[in-house]
Amino acid sequence: MNFIQQMKPTFGNEEKKACIDYMESDGYITEHKKTKELELAISKFTNSKYCFMVNNGTISLSIALLAMGITKNDEVIIPNLTMVATANSILLIGAIPIFVDVDSDGLIDCKKINISKNTKAIIYVSLNGRSSNIYDIKKLCEDNRIFLLEDAAQSLGSYYDNRHVGTFGNIGSFSFSTPKIISMGQGGALITDDDILANNIKRIKDFGREKSGSDDFITFGINSKFTDLQAVIGIEQMKKLNKRIIRKKEIWNQYYNNLKDIDNIKFLNKNINPDEKNWLPWFIDIYTTDRDELSKYLYKNNIGTRKIYKSLHKETTYKNLINSNDKYHISDNLSDCGLWLPSYIELTNNEIDYICNTILNFYK
Ligand SMILES: *Cc1c(COP(=O)(O)O)cnc(C)c1O
Repeated sequence: MNFIQQMKPTFGNEEKKACIDYMESDGYITEHKKTKELELAISKFTNSKYCFMVNNGTISLSIALLAMGITKNDEVIIPNLTMVATANSILLIGAIPIFVDVDSDGLIDCKKINISKNTKAIIYVSLNGRSSNIYDIKKLCEDNRIFLLEDAAQSLGSYYDNRHVGTFGNIGSFSFSTPKIISMGQGGALITDDDILANNIKRIKDFGREKSGSDDFITFGINSKFTDLQAVIGIEQMKKLNKRIIRKKEIWNQYYNNLKDIDNIKFLNKNINPDEKNWLPWFIDIYTTDRDELSKYLYKNNIGTRKIYKSLHKETTYKNLINSNDKYHISDNLSDCGLWLPSYIELTNNEIDYICNTILNFYK
């Protein structure tokens, strides 16, 4: 058995041909018509009015915050369990990230949020495609008149209440880095229905330019334009998305059915069936107190896994920012127990059976 990676992107002949066709056209490589076409495909898929492609799913969050008018020393609330990029995007613009513990689904716990006079926004992270408390958070933001930014980097293809994740907040953000469900190597997208925020995003990602071609720079901005060469890959990847959604759910079900009876392994969200239109698991995540030994055992058997993120308050960058009296029990627990099993789209049923049997052997 060859080594089974935890994750890898999948590109095919369609992407290859699209690149060659593009290079044979008289394109400029930089952002132009193909990027527009990809933005339209994402808008249509997510049912949002606007979509803007940017370099990646970290700068996308910073741009979204800038578009909301968030600046130095403003506070932005985020869950303590997320990819470090969520927090970094806040620090990058000089604002202050405030960490809040998560609930048993790994999502920011509404009951533990304290909104201060400096709080300007909440970034809601739909960790592994989940967003079971998004309505509570949305209401909290509306009641307090603060912005809601959805870091939906892991959630393309995931729905809640029949609505695409990323469309509940004022702005939604996606990533297309290599582990994500579709990839362009790197890339990010922002979606919104709000005309003013859309205009701000468009300006900020283009040096603060009033309109393209103009050299009037009316506000601060950066250069976060996409490239058409990546966009032609993205257009082909988008065509494959519906099939991938179906396959990911099959993969999840096969793992779940094989592993659900192991006492020491816990799945979150047992009552959510990924067969329904709604939840799409990005990665197959299991939680076990034997996490470190299990992951070593799997590695010895040629199976790659990845530990879930460290709690943010334990990351070196953020340790000193945090009041040591703050408690993050649930994030710490999920973080200590969470393991991502191989989850890429081309995983075969035989490979999944092999992985599950290896896990069963570990517990024998
Ligand atoms: C991947 C990811 C990001 C960062 O996206 P990049 O495109 O790699 O910069 C941000 N937030 C979450 C939750 C992610 O999973």
